[in-house]
Amino acid sequence: MKKGIHPEYYLATAKCACGNEFQVGSTQKEIRVEICLKCHPLFTGKQKIIDTAGRVERFRRKYEKVQNEKTKE
Ligand SMILES: [Zn+2]
Repeated sequence: MKKGIHPEYYLATAKCACGNEFQVGSTQKEIRVEICLKCHPLFTGKQKIIDTAGRVERFRRKYEKVQNEKTKE
């Protein structure tokens, strides 16, 4: 059997800047990440993009209005 043709595949421990650790498949044994599922603003709900939140709110109201008009029929 020849070795070294394919890179070895590890179940690596990824360490995030927030302190969270999680397992991930990788060719490296250890991975450092700056953002993960636990501290990403999209998942924590701590929104940095407040402007976008306002736009979503406006869209939601418009959508609700449409829904209300539908139920009147
Ligand atoms: Zn993190």
